[in-house]
Amino acid sequence: MAALRQIDDADTIALAERHLVQPWPVAGSIGAEARTLIGEGDGIYITDGDGKRLIDGPAGMWCTNVGHRRAELAQVMYDQAMALSYNTPWYTMNEPSVVLAERIASHAPGDLDHVFFTTGGSSAVESALRFMQFYNNVRGRPEKKLILSRGGAYHGSTYLSASLNGRPRDLDWMDGAKELVVKLSAPDPFRRPAGLSVEAFEQFLVTEFEETIARVGAERIGAFVGEPVQASGGVIVAPGSYLKRIREICRANDIMYVSDEVVTAFGRLGHVFASKDVFGIEPDIITFAKGVTSGYFPLGGMVVSARLMEDLRKSNHPDAMFGHGLTYSSHPIGCAVALKNLDLLEEGVLAHTRKVAPYFQSQLKKLEELPLVGEVRGVGLMACVECVADRESRNPLQLDKAVGARIDAHCHELGLLVRPLINMCVMSPPLIITESQIDDMVSILREGICRTMDDLR
Ligand code: PLP
Repeated sequence: MAALRQIDDADTIALAERHLVQPWPVAGSIGAEARTLIGEGDGIYITDGDGKRLIDGPAGMWCTNVGHRRAELAQVMYDQAMALSYNTPWYTMNEPSVVLAERIASHAPGDLDHVFFTTGGSSAVESALRFMQFYNNVRGRPEKKLILSRGGAYHGSTYLSASLNGRPRDLDWMDGAKELVVKLSAPDPFRRPAGLSVEAFEQFLVTEFEETIARVGAERIGAFVGEPVQASGGVIVAPGSYLKRIREICRANDIMYVSDEVVTAFGRLGHVFASKDVFGIEPDIITFAKGVTSGYFPLGGMVVSARLMEDLRKSNHPDAMFGHGLTYSSHPIGCAVALKNLDLLEEGVLAHTRKVAPYFQSQLKKLEELPLVGEVRGVGLMACVECVADRESRNPLQLDKAVGARIDAHCHELGLLVRPLINMCVMSPPLIITESQIDDMVSILREGICRTMDDLR
């Protein structure tokens, strides 16, 4: 096997081991998680500590949508910091946040027109869940608080949002608000029960949803939270009209439908929001983050239905306070950069994404020729290459094979950063990627997978 790549900037590594705790650390190797030092970024490329230029395959963490080193965004951040760097969002407000709220509402489906800004995706989902609790308390339904979530889901790392997570390993060693969450199957057609067609699998999921509501009681369920495409679970695209049917069941049972668009909003699927434009659903709340600023500033939020807000205004408890706010809600710099980012998306990046996405998907799909690859799936500019031990049985490869990490290591040598997820590689490049850059990306990935096959022989 080729040696897995090491960082060679010894001083930085020594400092990191002593002082820096990276996200998702593993007990036995705390301080040694970071494998790649990134020096700078430009367009779809980043440069590592050795000066090697790499295609930013995962766009950071699904976020550098308009690409690195956009002078327009840097300028706006500077200008806003010089004009007003901060104001308390409680009893004062700033203009960028008001204008941005209106712009976001103009893109949101149905009657979703009230925007609450947070500091990222976890705080957006947490806000939506706490809002659901508040809403049901105010309207005299304190027992209606349970949350439906699915296997394969990732909704964040705050206590309640993390309690919804359904990926293997997320909750193994962690506590969570288990008493508040009811878990359903992952809507993953590739891993559907043996013997079921994809159509029958869709029906299986819908029936499971209905039976769960019947068993638990709609009067006890406050919300369903779901990603339109399960991103970190491996770009799981649910079958057929499953999402539309779940949406209707939620409506019929007075269950809030929270569409977690932290990954899919702001361009990844070629639209500002994917819920309606791609999947034909109008949720009660949409959560967003990441692409809203293309990763230039930590910002997220939720867009809430006017109907829910009206219910609160007319409730019997006009003095009830939604006891929830963040120091950095409606941050003026974040909102200013988001406005400029939205200009860039509207002025061409969204249209470009819709144009190149079919090419991106079709070129990656060709990797299914390789024996190690069980499936390539995706939508828009997000895709996942899932490796299997055996194509017939679809058995996943064991953790000790470190397939994702091996592919990542080989691709790094060849000039591509890959996001490995156990036996999967997620590809979600900056949306400005061109067809010839897609060719480069796919040919490096192909070579990385071939070298991995050689390692495993
Ligand atoms: N929701 C989804 C769908 C996500 O993919 C993520 C992060 O990847 C989150 C929520 C949490 O966002 P953040 O990491 O900004 O808190």
